[in-house]
Amino acid sequence: MCDQQSLRSTLQRIDGAGYGAYKDIRGEWKFGDFTLHVDHVQGDPFAAPSRLRIAVPADVAGLPRDLWANSSRKVGLEDYLVRALDRAIPQCTKGSRGSGKSGRFSVVAHGPCVLRRTAMSVGEDGVEAVITCGLPAAGRRVLGKQATAMLLDELPRLVTGALMWTSLVQDEVYTHVRCTEDAEALRAQLRSRGLVAFVNRGAVLPRASGVSERPLSRGAVPFAPPESLEITLERPNGPSVSGMGIPQGVTLVVGGGYHGKSTLLTAVSRGVYNHVPGDGREFVVTVPEAMVIRAEDGRNVSGTDISSFIGELPGKQSTARFQSENASGSTSQAANIAEALEAGASALLVDEDTSATNFMIRDARMQQLVSKDKEPITPFVDRVRELYEAWGVSTVLVMGGSGDYFGSADTVIMMHEYRPYDVTSRARQLANDQRRAETAQPLSKPRARHVVPKSFSARDRRGKRVVRADHATLRLGNARVDLTKLHQFVELSQVRAAGHILAWVADNIGEQLSVPELLDRVEAQLAREGLEGFVPARYGDLAEPRRFEIACVLNRVRGLQAKPSG
Ligand code: ADP
Ligand code: MG
Repeated sequence: MCDQQSLRSTLQRIDGAGYGAYKDIRGEWKFGDFTLHVDHVQGDPFAAPSRLRIAVPADVAGLPRDLWANSSRKVGLEDYLVRALDRAIPQCTKGSRGSGKSGRFSVVAHGPCVLRRTAMSVGEDGVEAVITCGLPAAGRRVLGKQATAMLLDELPRLVTGALMWTSLVQDEVYTHVRCTEDAEALRAQLRSRGLVAFVNRGAVLPRASGVSERPLSRGAVPFAPPESLEITLERPNGPSVSGMGIPQGVTLVVGGGYHGKSTLLTAVSRGVYNHVPGDGREFVVTVPEAMVIRAEDGRNVSGTDISSFIGELPGKQSTARFQSENASGSTSQAANIAEALEAGASALLVDEDTSATNFMIRDARMQQLVSKDKEPITPFVDRVRELYEAWGVSTVLVMGGSGDYFGSADTVIMMHEYRPYDVTSRARQLANDQRRAETAQPLSKPRARHVVPKSFSARDRRGKRVVRADHATLRLGNARVDLTKLHQFVELSQVRAAGHILAWVADNIGEQLSVPELLDRVEAQLAREGLEGFVPARYGDLAEPRRFEIACVLNRVRGLQAKPSG
């Protein structure tokens, strides 16, 4: 290993040389307080920036042990440090200088959720952070002096400012870590309390705008639970928390337009993740296996069994092994449910705003006009109770436009002026309607599919692994997966990770496995080695996705070969 001084002289030597000379700084450099690993050097100033790994020994970083004493605290601490590093960058570094990405340091982009990320790890050996840096150039020439300033002055300041206990805002670190641990503890109580979700009193659910994840700051009505649904949960780092429990079973959310129904459901869908202090949804928690279900016309479906929801289609197409490169609203929504069940979902979250009407309801008049033998769809209203009674799968459903669900609901919550009211008994009184139930066949569990891992790949024509994500698509080899309708990916870093995981599956799993077996394998590998186990090198831009989102990507890969097992 060479020291800081030799890095300085290397940079002096290559000053003014062609950009390729930066390859000489690859490797390990010993600084006073830390070790710098230059893992990847970009090929030119416009390419993806260079990747640096910084290792600070435990005694130098000095992070108190109780901050990473258990896994939820550790994830909270690592998440905090990523944010601290991000905040320190503009304070400790000069930024852009020269061509392309020259001069810029950055860490992985992050939202309000606390996720397990590859950018940071804290353990017995100390702290290790992965950041990127645009090595500076004028045109395509090495700017040696600028690089020296970046790596030998700015970088040590950054490390001191963000990764050493003495310079952190210590109360804030504790608040962050305790908040994560508390949310985790609240979520862990849901099952035994018979709940699918919990929304604490005082929570701020609305966001600043439709394109922002920040809380609405002015005019937000804090959440207040209806008395009949109010419960109290315990947490390790403070007094107990009271709020509204959404019970297992079928829950309807009704109310006038613009009264906060979808906002509540979105918050519940995000409750599978922990949130940072100040988000407003810190103590909004949902069972980890909750899945948003929506219509997604145009999606690809490979061999999914949707026969419980949709019978024979025109042209005698079977739906026990539904195949489509362009599913309709109703068939895509049915496939989304079947695949959620296959992956192990225990709760479905459905919003009328994003559902196919003909999949959701079929009222008495329509039943008279279009007889059952002409309609292949068994509407969700006739399946929703069975889902719970047969397999314990709960549904939380926003439905302001039809009363047909009153008879199927265990709980009915009315949102009015952003406040929830328990209107279950009134809705029950109204439930004796003229509509006939349409379940000819009992609900049968959609058969799990076997997939051929070799039927997809993340390699391009030349055999290179390509995993690239933007907000709308994931590119996997030559394939593109549409992400715009997947609501429970909260960060691009999760999408990238899901891509790498599937790349690993395509390369490493030879045999045909059922989808649940495949997801179990992935989870076992995640538990053993973390996300690092799926990628060829330590990238700093990945965050852990749930098994459900991995399944969502797999299910949308065009060309996937899958067929019902058995
Ligand atoms: P619905 O689904 O009932 O039609 P939305 O949930 O879409 O209504 O909410 C309508 C608007 O009200 C949105 O702009 C949303 O941000 C805002 N909103 C939701 N909840 C609150 C709240 N608690 N306080 C203030 N504004 C809210
Ligand atoms: Mg709505």
